[in-house]
Amino acid sequence: MANPLSYLSEQLEAWRREGTYQTLKQLETACAPVARFDGREVINLASNNYLGLTNHPKLVEAALKATRELGVGSGAVRTIAGTMAIHMELERRIARFKKTEAAVVFQSGFAANAGTVAAVLTPEDHIISDELNHASIIDGCRLSKAKIHIFPHRNVKAAAQILEELDSAPGRKLLITDGVFSMDGDIAPLPELVELAERHGAIMMVDDAHASGVLGANGRGTVDHFGMHGRVHIQVGTLSKAIGVLGGYVCGSRDLIEFLYHRARPFLFSTSHPPAVAAACLAAFDILEQEPERIEQLWANTAYFKKALQAAGFDTGASQTPITPIMVGEASRAHEFSRALFEEGVFAVGIGYPTVPKGKARVRTIVTATHTREQLDRAVEVLARVARRMGILGKAA
Ligand SMILES: *Cc1c(COP(=O)(O)O)cnc(C)c1O
Repeated sequence: MANPLSYLSEQLEAWRREGTYQTLKQLETACAPVARFDGREVINLASNNYLGLTNHPKLVEAALKATRELGVGSGAVRTIAGTMAIHMELERRIARFKKTEAAVVFQSGFAANAGTVAAVLTPEDHIISDELNHASIIDGCRLSKAKIHIFPHRNVKAAAQILEELDSAPGRKLLITDGVFSMDGDIAPLPELVELAERHGAIMMVDDAHASGVLGANGRGTVDHFGMHGRVHIQVGTLSKAIGVLGGYVCGSRDLIEFLYHRARPFLFSTSHPPAVAAACLAAFDILEQEPERIEQLWANTAYFKKALQAAGFDTGASQTPITPIMVGEASRAHEFSRALFEEGVFAVGIGYPTVPKGKARVRTIVTATHTREQLDRAVEVLARVARRMGILGKAA
């Protein structure tokens, strides 16, 4: 009998032919600046572990202590019997950190975005969304069944035009953007977008997954970075990147959070975090406040690495943050570059269509606070050598 799933095998075969087929690299050590993947020691420019917190002794200790005292699981979804005291403590802590009335924690940043957008809007409403917003925002928009209006990346004028055209239309409007864009490392024009939302009575929502722990005082995110406290209605953040653990959260008014407790589907229908996750996250927020030098080091490393890449002749796109793309053009070439780098001891992922537009494929690098200068120098040397060999950089560079 024919296999009804054979079309999947055909698609996989096509990806193999195109050179875009991906295998999962296995991390055989902790996530660290130099780590072993698939048996090879590499300089790790592929993690989101911005502050090196994934294996920080204080987080590890907090997780172990919580596990010993409270076990490995919460036993239920939040709305039934799975709200532990430590979950509430983490939400209060996040709200205080972000200077908002309240916060709710989700299992992931993905669940936070998708669950929130889908909960607060109805099919009669309108979403005005940056074209490069994260997949979890896109899925939330689709789940809400609201009408989706996409504006070109960071184009405030285009967003304004959409909102003007919608002024007489019924329904609520949600203006939504990533704070830091995950593929380009550029920052949203938040002050202009906030003004626009205020002018048109729209709800303003920011996804600060890559900005939390990175931008603003003690890593409070883009809202703090731009001095927009109190003017962004819905702030999303992740506990999976700079915080080093797992999870996502939404911050805003007490009523927004209470509403999400009643209506956000991942909150209602998926089990809450193990106590170890909440405990480790609490320890991470302590570190953000007590060790600001980690964030300073992150930015010093970012400036150092970007300058070295540009001096080597690389096109680093429009990045303003520790995410630095190296533009190469075609997807297959980006993957080929990434594979060659890995062989030479540098791990940086190749990213092509459909994650980024056709012709804009790149290898994405992310530096962390814990990379040493020697590691960054070595990475640039390898990047330049491999790029010259492949003709990505001119021979003279
Ligand atoms: C990573 C990311 C998410 C998802 O966060 P997780 O906690 O990994 O699920 C959401 N939004 C943006 C912009 C991201 O980069």
